[in-house]
Amino acid sequence: MSSIVAGEIVGIYRYLLKAPQLRYLTGGSLLIKTFSDNLAPAIARTLEESVPNKVRFSAAGRFLFEFDKTENAEAFLRTVRFVTNSLLGQGSLLVCGPLDNGKGVVRKIADILEGMKASGANGSISPHHSFHYVQRCGACGSWESMKFRRMDKDESPVLLCNSCDTKLKARNHETITIDFPDGYPLKRISLEKETKDAEKDCLQVAYALSEYDEGLDRSKDFSDLTKDTKTGYIGVFYADGNTLGALISQCNTPEEYERFSNKITESTREALRSALSSAGKGAKDSVRIFIEGGDDLLVVLPAERSVAFAEKYLSGASGSGTALKNGVCAGLVFSKPSIPFTMLFHKAEELLVSAKRQVWKRCMDKNTPEGKTAIDFMLLTSPLIESIDAIRERQVYIMPDRRSYTLFTARPYLLKEFKTLTDKLSSFKKLNLPKNIFLTLRDIFYPCELIYQENIASRPEARRDSRVDENGNFVALEKFITRQASLYKANEKEIKSFFNHEPIKDNPTWSGTYEDKGEQSVRRVWQADIIDLADFL
Ligand SMILES: [Zn+2]
Repeated sequence: MSSIVAGEIVGIYRYLLKAPQLRYLTGGSLLIKTFSDNLAPAIARTLEESVPNKVRFSAAGRFLFEFDKTENAEAFLRTVRFVTNSLLGQGSLLVCGPLDNGKGVVRKIADILEGMKASGANGSISPHHSFHYVQRCGACGSWESMKFRRMDKDESPVLLCNSCDTKLKARNHETITIDFPDGYPLKRISLEKETKDAEKDCLQVAYALSEYDEGLDRSKDFSDLTKDTKTGYIGVFYADGNTLGALISQCNTPEEYERFSNKITESTREALRSALSSAGKGAKDSVRIFIEGGDDLLVVLPAERSVAFAEKYLSGASGSGTALKNGVCAGLVFSKPSIPFTMLFHKAEELLVSAKRQVWKRCMDKNTPEGKTAIDFMLLTSPLIESIDAIRERQVYIMPDRRSYTLFTARPYLLKEFKTLTDKLSSFKKLNLPKNIFLTLRDIFYPCELIYQENIASRPEARRDSRVDENGNFVALEKFITRQASLYKANEKEIKSFFNHEPIKDNPTWSGTYEDKGEQSVRRVWQADIIDLADFL
């Protein structure tokens, strides 16, 4: 009977976001990718010739390998743990095995790893850990000469060469060498730009930034992505499959797990490919991919390209026949490139969670993956931003009956709803009306906090504000539409039909009103949402 070793690097996102600068983020993401794509499979191969067929899964820090002999599985486990402790930090790998192969082993692994996480095992993963393993001097080429000296003011680690006294600001993609003590199947592993013939018991693994990562490595922030754009905004898109753990648990054997994972990889890769081509010519160079593996995708791209990209990716990844049977959710943040990436990522994550919550509330019973695919988005204008929940809190109007709500946003959107919205908005924009239409709309929907509080204070009985009358009619919006229609007489018809349009007539999945247990009704008002989107279509 064969033996299984499976594991997962914990806290990858935390790891990447700890990076003080983009270049460490780039390098960190390269290190994780190298581990999954090349390093772990290569270690397994040196232990068993037959292993190439037995890499059941290895992507984005997660893996499941199958070995013919238990002692090889054991040796692999020890080696891979030593490697991740060295490269990423103590306890950065949760790993279990060797386990006897057989029915139910995938589920067992999932339970063990979940148990480890639940008991708080999350290691000390750090983006600077690997610098202690830079041994070769980049200047004089001498081996075992580099010593870690200190952190520089800009938080770059400074290394010093003992042979030539060169001070080197280390990066994540230096040649990294791990020497093993006795008792391991390998003497040395080196991650190198160019691999040559390795000595006996030494393993060389190719490790170099791609051309476009090198561009990123040199830049301070994402402003290079916005050079040729009108708005100067970037989009941060973070997507993740729904209930992946539950889907994995349905796999009985490693073979089933492998087939399932391959199917996911196939459809997400294809989705990414078509999203890239939809993002326009030269899109490949302007889309930075940080995490791509399994059901996860984290990319940064020009905001003008991000909406089409998001739509294409989500429909590809959740289309009919794909493995992510419970759909895919995503968060999309539009922002100036100067806002720290950590903050952008956390916002994207919050939006992703919000989209998932909506799916749980509204459509877990739908049986198509498309019906469970949702997106939430926002325009981030300042780094001093509140939580999504706090913002949405101000977008609720509770009717005097205290059971009915009007939400001044329809976010998050199911994918179909989102497409309807962006289609309508695109055609409306083609009228080339002055931009201040959208600015005026902003004042109605997003009154500043002060005005909002005053409104609440003066009419506490029903949390009234001037946007809505006591029957829940959206009077401010009605006034706005009448005013715009009279200002731009030539387009009166289009303006009225666009803003009064009830998308539910065209698209039955857009539930403008939906009942929750028959006790309360919630009306979602979509008109506010075009403010954040208008510039990026
Ligand atoms: Zn040197």
